[in-house]
Amino acid sequence: MSATKFSSLKLQPELLNNIESLGYVKMTPIQAQSLPPILAGKDVIGQAKTGSGKTAAFGLGILEQLNVRNTRVQALVLCPTRELADQVSKALRRLARMCPNVKVLTLCGGMPYRPQVSSLGHGAHVVVGTPGRIAKHLRTGSLNLGSLRVLVLDEGDRMLEMGFQEEVDAIVAKTPEGRQTLLFSATYPRAIQSIAEKVMVDPVMAQVESTHDSGSIRQHFYKVGDDDPARLMALRLLLQEHRPESTLIFCNRKLETQSVRDELNRLGFSALALHGDLEQSERDETLVRFSNKSVSVLVATDVAARGLDIDTVDAVINYRLSRDAETHVHRIGRTGRAGSKGMACSLYGPRDRSVLDALEANGGSEIRDEPLPSKKALDSPIARAPMATLNVRLGKRQKFRAGNLLGALTGENSLKGDQVGKINICDNWTYVAVASESVDFALKVLGNETWKERPIKAWLLKDAVSPWAAALR
Ligand code: AMP
Repeated sequence: MSATKFSSLKLQPELLNNIESLGYVKMTPIQAQSLPPILAGKDVIGQAKTGSGKTAAFGLGILEQLNVRNTRVQALVLCPTRELADQVSKALRRLARMCPNVKVLTLCGGMPYRPQVSSLGHGAHVVVGTPGRIAKHLRTGSLNLGSLRVLVLDEGDRMLEMGFQEEVDAIVAKTPEGRQTLLFSATYPRAIQSIAEKVMVDPVMAQVESTHDSGSIRQHFYKVGDDDPARLMALRLLLQEHRPESTLIFCNRKLETQSVRDELNRLGFSALALHGDLEQSERDETLVRFSNKSVSVLVATDVAARGLDIDTVDAVINYRLSRDAETHVHRIGRTGRAGSKGMACSLYGPRDRSVLDALEANGGSEIRDEPLPSKKALDSPIARAPMATLNVRLGKRQKFRAGNLLGALTGENSLKGDQVGKINICDNWTYVAVASESVDFALKVLGNETWKERPIKAWLLKDAVSPWAAALR
């Protein structure tokens, strides 16, 4: 952390007080570098990734210059995924909680369109959203950016990787020329440079050392054939030898994520797949189950893993190497965060030579392959996920709250507090993690409880994503 205090900045007292109440004492390096030019109204390119404090950097820049009496949209934050947009909106609301009446609206694809139009009709100061949906609102005229002062492109590199260039261009074209543009990106490839040249005026570069300390990630490379049986056996050996509690496995294709998941489930691992073809509700359910520790392996494509709001994982395994070195660094950065030790294992075959060369050039050293764990590893039992997820058919719309569920589960002669994990309340249902050995008891306890004089219905989610998650939206 830099030694610079927030009080050295020209910020409204409401914002300074709130920063203090949030427990932020010093600025993070990206904040120390980017906030002074942001507050001076300059265009800024911040090379920073999730966890660096970048959201507060642009968030404070936005909030400092809002005119709350004007209910037209004054700031727009474009994010590559709905998860990131939700995170950013939450962070902005938290930063604005001492500034009365600031309205932050989230507009993302995969969500019903009409309610968004009516929310826009009520006015908003800040809009956070994904490019496709924002572009649609602009086309239909429900969103007007004529009064925009600040445009933020968050995770610009991912937005481009996900093919949003056209939408971003269309959106920028609808904003006033005199706006301030802030671009945040973990990497700074050529395509980002050319966007910056197109949409920014004399930008200030705020660049900080990579926040993930590569020393805390141990990388291992294993030479296996190109065929699936050899890779699947390597996966089993690694998972059974190291028994990580949470593992993210990367594949390069959707179908591969499904076949690897099926094979792992057949062997007794609890695994789910995450890829671009999932309905939003299936994706949400998958992420809830992985992050609440009731599924221990997530098999994902790069696109699906963008902007994932999950804590650090114990291990990342590249079932197939990524097609370029940058994606590789991104993938392995999911482990070893926040000071924890991480393990990154990569399986490679003869066809991966060019990526390996790029990785060697990047890392400045030769990649040496290691022997896989011995077959003895297969004798050790498969690690079970510590938790299991129940789906309770009550949600926000029924005014059901986490406290109600916790109360029902942990009453007298019921579960202990530490047998209940994360609770995620959705519109019409709630996910609750319970210790896997207490599932039957938890279902029995809930079966005897009522809510507003109706029985509480709950199910255990099994390995596949529940088919009705999509049907019930
Ligand atoms: P971000 O990179 O924006 O996702 O932020 C990562 C986390 O750091 C968030 O949980 C923020 O609340 C927190 N954070 C941001 N700025 C500071 C700060 N100056 N001091 C302590 N925590 C911070």
